[in-house]
Amino acid sequence: MLIRMTSEPEQQIGVGTPDAFQRLWTPHRMAYIQGENKPTGPEAGDGCPFCEIPSKSDEDGLVVARGEQVYAVLNLYPYNGGHLMVVPYRHVADYTELDGPETLELADFTKRAMTALRAASGAHGFNIGMNQGAVAGAGIAAHLHQHLVPRWGGDTNFMPVVGHTKVLPQLLADTRKMLADVWPAA
Ligand SMILES: [Zn+2]
Repeated sequence: MLIRMTSEPEQQIGVGTPDAFQRLWTPHRMAYIQGENKPTGPEAGDGCPFCEIPSKSDEDGLVVARGEQVYAVLNLYPYNGGHLMVVPYRHVADYTELDGPETLELADFTKRAMTALRAASGAHGFNIGMNQGAVAGAGIAAHLHQHLVPRWGGDTNFMPVVGHTKVLPQLLADTRKMLADVWPAA
């Protein structure tokens, strides 16, 4: 699936520049609305994307880092450039269901993700948190995931910048590599 978002689709944006993530992407939300990658039921075997991602290559799954209990992955439907999620391998819905090692590593990965995002993108701030339950806005409520959304001053006004974006899959691939390259060791 390629989504072109610009009248200049061949234009290339240099990666590694502080504003490389400062894009708002919205057309791909259509895929989400249409149900692509949505589980068909509440169990791990019901096509849960968070259960399937770890079996893919880092590149195919957009995995930034893998731990013992959790992994960090780019959101295919980002609220902002560099939108990451920290996800336990185990298919659990509620934060209170995490065991001790999962709780610790989820917190540690959250910190390392902030460090990586600052190093790669110069993020000025973050929104971090979990939507618990569909009623609270969780898109995939059966498998919990911690969102990290980097923020920059003025990023609510980025829509005019959208004309400079790459084809989305290429941008996500570059973003994944940038973050993986600067992901801090434990
Ligand atoms: Zn799952």
